[in-house]
Amino acid sequence: MKAGNATLSSYGTTIFEAMSALAREHAAVNLGQGFPDDRGPLALRQAAAEFVVDGHNQYPPMMGMAALRQAVAAHDRRFYGLDVDWQTEVLITSGATEALLDCFLGLLEVGDEVVLLEPAYDTYAPVLRRLGVVPRSVRLVPPTWSLPRDELAAAFSGKTKLLVLNSPMNPAGKVFTRDELTFLASLVERHDAFAVCDEVYEHLVFGDAPHIPLMTLPGMRDRALRIGSAGKTFSLTGWKVGYITAPAHALRPITKAHQFVTFTTPPNLQHAVALGLGLEDAYFHGLGPALARGRDRLAAGVAALELPVLPCDGTYFLVLDVTRWLGSDEDDVAFCRRLVVEAGVVLIPMSAFYEAAPPRHLVRACFCKADATIDAALLRLQAWVSKQR
Ligand code: PMP
Ligand code: GLN
Repeated sequence: MKAGNATLSSYGTTIFEAMSALAREHAAVNLGQGFPDDRGPLALRQAAAEFVVDGHNQYPPMMGMAALRQAVAAHDRRFYGLDVDWQTEVLITSGATEALLDCFLGLLEVGDEVVLLEPAYDTYAPVLRRLGVVPRSVRLVPPTWSLPRDELAAAFSGKTKLLVLNSPMNPAGKVFTRDELTFLASLVERHDAFAVCDEVYEHLVFGDAPHIPLMTLPGMRDRALRIGSAGKTFSLTGWKVGYITAPAHALRPITKAHQFVTFTTPPNLQHAVALGLGLEDAYFHGLGPALARGRDRLAAGVAALELPVLPCDGTYFLVLDVTRWLGSDEDDVAFCRRLVVEAGVVLIPMSAFYEAAPPRHLVRACFCKADATIDAALLRLQAWVSKQR
């Protein structure tokens, strides 16, 4: 029998699927895969259900239903002051995952280089490698995940076709500052590159640090592409509705990819997400504070266990330094697996977000959960810690 594709065969099952399966197997509290306990706005779920019964459930237009494309453009204007042509600059996809793939398929050639910032979301590098593209990974420096500017400048070259920028950043919880974005924009511009901006956590920011789309910076309107996800903005991760805002010249080849990958996205979900993007400001502004309470609850509990917690200004995720809990010669993956069995709590090893020589002392914990879920995890960790002494 001939083998399947060698590049993809060299990767295991994604860490999120693997750890959620372990959680089910061991009836563990799952602070691994990033999905909220919250069920999402009832009005959206009702609208999606009613559309299935009463609506037109045939292929919607390839670029997305007009109402949703208009809603994305209006959202971009309302929150970021962007002037977007909904007909030529917005594409609806089946989740941000498809949006990323479409961007890579539509913009890249074999042999191109792409600059990634590590820790990087787990789909970027495998897909790029499968396309014969060379990822140039630059590591941010914990605990604040600062930009190593000289290394970054050195990673860009004439071969660089694009930068992938994920802000707010999974798993680091970092929200890039205007100063950092200005620096990245200067590199993108100097090297005549694109920037694919994974902004799925755009509304999930805490405190004073605002989310600033790279696209709003001088010189970036023609080079930056913004990806959003209804999964994150409406706590409906299973829906897989994503949206790309991009200059028309970049969106054209990306649309060619979309037409061959999924072609369309379920119309009832598009209809409901269009309603969602039109919700009042209070809905969007309430997301960060609600999540910050979960972050603070989890952080306080972890601090009581005398474990260092890294700063977190956005996303669903808190990074913990588990050095003092690691067994001798134990890495983060082995530790997380042991923790499921011994403590009944699922966390994600940070090494999953690195291509090579990852840090081995950090784990990611998800806090977009009900208080009871966070408290149950903390109680289990406390019981486990007291048994270790
Ligand atoms: N990018 C990042 C950074 C993510 O955390 C996720 C996880 N949901 C995605 C993309 C994929 O989003 P979607 O579920 O809309 O495909
Ligand atoms: N984005 C989610 C996370 O980081 C996982 C999505 C998935 O399971 N593929 O936890």
